[in-house]
Amino acid sequence: MATKSKFQAIRGTRDLLPPETALWNHVDQTAHAVFGTFGFGEIRPPIFEETELFGSAIGAETDIISKEMFSWPEGGTSVESELPKVWMLKHLGEFETANREYVFENRQQLDLVVRQSDQTLVVEFKRRTINQATIDDIRQYRRSFSERFPEQKPPKLLLVFAEEPSEFVRKLAAANEAEIEVLHVPGYETRESVSLRPEATASVCRAYIEHGMQQLPQPVKLYYMGPMFRRERPQKGRYRQFYQIGAEVLGGNDAPAIDAEVIEMVMTFFDRVGLSGVELNINSIGHNAPDCRPAYVQKLKAALELVKDKLGADSQRRIETNPLRVLDSKLDHEQAIIATLPRIADHLCAECAAHYAAVKRQLELRGVFFKENWRLVRGLDYYMRTTFEITAKGIDSQNAVCGGGRYDGLVELLGGPPTKGIGFAIGEDRLILSLQESGKGAAPQGRDVYIAWMGEHAYAAAVHAAKDLRNAGFSVELPPTELKFGKALERADKLGSRYALILGDNEVSEGSWTLKTLAEGTQQKFTEPELLEFLKSAKASEPRS
Ligand code: AMP
Repeated sequence: MATKSKFQAIRGTRDLLPPETALWNHVDQTAHAVFGTFGFGEIRPPIFEETELFGSAIGAETDIISKEMFSWPEGGTSVESELPKVWMLKHLGEFETANREYVFENRQQLDLVVRQSDQTLVVEFKRRTINQATIDDIRQYRRSFSERFPEQKPPKLLLVFAEEPSEFVRKLAAANEAEIEVLHVPGYETRESVSLRPEATASVCRAYIEHGMQQLPQPVKLYYMGPMFRRERPQKGRYRQFYQIGAEVLGGNDAPAIDAEVIEMVMTFFDRVGLSGVELNINSIGHNAPDCRPAYVQKLKAALELVKDKLGADSQRRIETNPLRVLDSKLDHEQAIIATLPRIADHLCAECAAHYAAVKRQLELRGVFFKENWRLVRGLDYYMRTTFEITAKGIDSQNAVCGGGRYDGLVELLGGPPTKGIGFAIGEDRLILSLQESGKGAAPQGRDVYIAWMGEHAYAAAVHAAKDLRNAGFSVELPPTELKFGKALERADKLGSRYALILGDNEVSEGSWTLKTLAEGTQQKFTEPELLEFLKSAKASEPRS
């Protein structure tokens, strides 16, 4: 029963409790078993990494990175204690502690942005220079600030450099005096930003590079499971700490059989855990070359421009930022418009088209049913070719239970050698929810044997019996204090025990123990060795759950 307590789990997080945790364990164990049969090995990366790793892998402009990460500065010293007092007085006269808001931007070279009283933006740099991309980021940030707070002046930027700033930086500042000020603080130690992982693919790729796994026989097949963290608005099936089970195949070639086998593996896993209403959607999103996806995106963009007025604000913005994402729209009134847009399958280059056709053949060969969905896209450039998503009963299409695809450019983007890659992530919370909704929840965890003991001799015998029975794999409840038999049997019942072993001093001295089958109310007498044999053979003849 829920009671209001002084401390509560933070919104968007929750305790997983028995008996539900038995279902979680069963799902985890099934993943270990199934993935093992496909030759995958488990990787357990840390749950926090450099913020920049996620920024590079997922993309700074995505919601996940721009506003959903749990980040904090690591090492170094704080901005306010390091900044020269003189500067503090000049710029932060009305500096108010309570007003401070820290905003982390997670792009390469741009380590930390601090917004101070809405007037000054402090940006720290480890290096002595910044590039055009960084400037564009900053401009973008100022623009989004203005959108969010239209009544306020966008904050001035203060760029703090530990090294003598480069000529480029100096010139840039001089040309934009109203917007940017440069400060050189020798020995200034910037803090590295670290984040709780919002997903694990980036970590797996980092580990692949860091441990020189390209020297191993290729491809390297890894899977992981564990908590991920996103500062999302909590709602059903959406948490701030949630769990994923995922796998990645890195290195080797991009044979369509690899894509098909990865998909076959997830489908086998879903089948094994008993997920119902499983539906696999696939698509190919081509690759990032002039004769393939970019040409399609241009066509799509042109087509979108023509219907722009009929689209909602989000889609209108995406025409500029990421036209493919318009296809993701779930808005009712946009569906008919989207149905008329050009489709990527008609614009794939010859190689990607052949790859897609082969993946479909390979899936058929494996008896994996799929539905083609031309609107299934990924917003990032390094995603390519095979893209897939899996939905299940009780989970609507906005909430897929699994998403995956090929990402051949990712390892290279993170500083490794050119490497092929494909993987998927299963939302374990949603998987569990779907299993529960279709009646596959875990049964309450009862006990095999409750030992109802009375008397000092009986207690010694009960302790030994408990040890022997537990060693033989039975779950045993041994009450720590003596209870009257009536009370003990009541407890045994409440705990869902199958048997009560009745041990009084008489039973012990006679060497004849009474076992009561609680559901039926029948009793049998046994010697201790007979009892163990009886329980073992009873268990062996139980139907397997
Ligand atoms: P993504 O990494 O966003 O492609 O997500 C992969 C899977 O993780 C999704 O299909 C969801 O099932 C699950 N997932 C993502 N975000 C959350 C969340 N906040 N809460 C629960 N599950 C999530």
